[in-house]
Amino acid sequence: MQLFIPGPVTVSPEVAAAQAQPMIGHRGSDFETLFARIQPKLRQVFATRNRVYISTSSGTGLQEAAVRNCVGRCCLNLVNGAFSERWHEITPANGKEGIKLEAPWGQAIHPEQVEKALAQGGFDAVTVVHNETSTGVMNPLAEIAAVVQRHPDVLLLVDAVSSLGGVAIDCDGPGLDVLLTSSQKCLGLPPGLAFCAVSDRALARARTVPNRGYYFDFLELEKYLLRNQTPATPAISLLFALDVQLDRMLAEGLSARYARHARLAARVQGWAAERYALFAEEGYRSLTVTTVTNTRQIDVRALNRHLRAQGMAISDGYGKLKGQTFRIAHMGDTTEADIERLLTAMDGFK
Ligand SMILES: *Cc1c(COP(=O)(O)O)cnc(C)c1O
Repeated sequence: MQLFIPGPVTVSPEVAAAQAQPMIGHRGSDFETLFARIQPKLRQVFATRNRVYISTSSGTGLQEAAVRNCVGRCCLNLVNGAFSERWHEITPANGKEGIKLEAPWGQAIHPEQVEKALAQGGFDAVTVVHNETSTGVMNPLAEIAAVVQRHPDVLLLVDAVSSLGGVAIDCDGPGLDVLLTSSQKCLGLPPGLAFCAVSDRALARARTVPNRGYYFDFLELEKYLLRNQTPATPAISLLFALDVQLDRMLAEGLSARYARHARLAARVQGWAAERYALFAEEGYRSLTVTTVTNTRQIDVRALNRHLRAQGMAISDGYGKLKGQTFRIAHMGDTTEADIERLLTAMDGFK
């Protein structure tokens, strides 16, 4: 089955096979060698000099970690879709106050709105979802980061779950303090791992925040990272797969990978605009997933049955957008040929 859903994505056979390597212990030298080999490659993919923690969880775990470690009392949650709304819910669930700055679903968060909200003061951090997978909107991260940078005590926590590895993200230039992602989206791995690049500033903040929890405590993750280990048993088979996939990504070349994602997005969005309409605000359309407004009121479930018979799947709209929209992911290792096959099959649906 070829998956055109925004996670999990199709995993290449070579990467899937890497998981079958014989198990090793996580406190031995083989593991430390593996971990040490992965770390610089991960930093390349994250385009950062910061450490990158590896978590055996999905990305949601690291949304929780970011708030838990970096927010003393209160943060500003930028919300324009389901995943940013989730982060807003995670905030009080971890005992912090979260003030919501909202834009309608389908629209981007604009930097002036953030500027205005931050002017009220009292925020320890800002949470932002770079690419809202529910709506197909890509927020202007660099511009938002430039605004946050003017507030020296405010950390910027970024969910790039459905963009990192598919879109160039400047981590160190604008000073992203936490930049997190999951394995099963643009990185093209099976689900089960999550990663976050953490700045020195964020780590210093964590030292001042009590009740950081246990499993996701940055200070513990740091202590173990320095000896090429993780605090608890990680998903070692997935780390074997990660090691191989990072090599494949770097062999393709990151800029070639980003260019491929941009070409796929242009192709899918051109196709969709001719036949339907695009849900996301113009100028802020995602390069990794397209949310199509179902202007022809097709039966999305029937469409998926039609595609399934040909070994493919797309996604229905997320949550309240079910039926009104559908989503085509063009992320990970997806090729032009894959997309052509999908669009031909979709055109064959009557
Ligand atoms: C998929 C997704 C998540 C949730 O990630 P999990 O790995 O499923 O926990 C969070 N944010 C965004 C933007 C996503 O696309």
